Amino acid sequence: MKDTFKHQGLRQQLVNVVKAKGIQDDRVLNAIGKIPRHLFMDSGFLDHAYQDKAFPIAADQTISQPYTVAFQTELMQVSPGDKVLEIGTGSGYQTAVLCDLGAKVYSIERQQELFKKTSKFLPKLGYRAKKLIFGDGYKGLPEEAPFDSIIVTAGAPFVPKPLLSQLKKDGGRLVIPIGDDVQVMTLFIRKGQKEFEQHEFGEFRFVPLLEDKN
Ligand code: SAH
Repeated sequence: MKDTFKHQGLRQQLVNVVKAKGIQDDRVLNAIGKIPRHLFMDSGFLDHAYQDKAFPIAADQTISQPYTVAFQTELMQVSPGDKVLEIGTGSGYQTAVLCDLGAKVYSIERQQELFKKTSKFLPKLGYRAKKLIFGDGYKGLPEEAPFDSIIVTAGAPFVPKPLLSQLKKDGGRLVIPIGDDVQVMTLFIRKGQKEFEQHEFGEFRFVPLLEDKN
């Protein structure tokens, strides 16, 4: 697991690219600049790790495009100590970004292969999520609710109700790409028991959030 000067240089270029596309939060940019994305990818893709693109990982899934990771993270407005839930652990890259921001991270993955691989890998890099869970993200994690924010990293055909109800009532934020072939990045901010503000932020493409297969 090597992180060379070459990797660090490429990473700084990636930060500049993501910044030029409109990401302003310095803490998020700093995390992108720090986290060795190449180590989250299968070896064949090492040369591509610092392009601003999604890439295949195991189990037919993808590691999200860095710009998308930064965009979603910026919308979450994470403060150190926040309790956050991620649906779709995948490679663990987004998980690492959230850990780097000082969040207490809970993350759910439905592909056992990825769950196992990432559970071993993240602590080796020094990123310690509170809990990685093998299960179905549609249900959220009721036993740990409420969350300051929730991020869904797969394309959801609709908004799972449990995720909305697991947000804290005074300003909890859900960042979720909604749609089938193309998704609209959507932010829900909880304002009370049943009150939610909804904001939309343009189109993205994700692998689908799948119904439980376990
Ligand atoms: N955050 C990840 C993105 C991985 S792609 C990364 O940066 O690497 C989306 C992930 O969501 C995939 O790993 C996929 O297996 C997972 N997923 C899809 N449906 C799910 C569900 N219902 N519950 C939990 N995870 C799910």
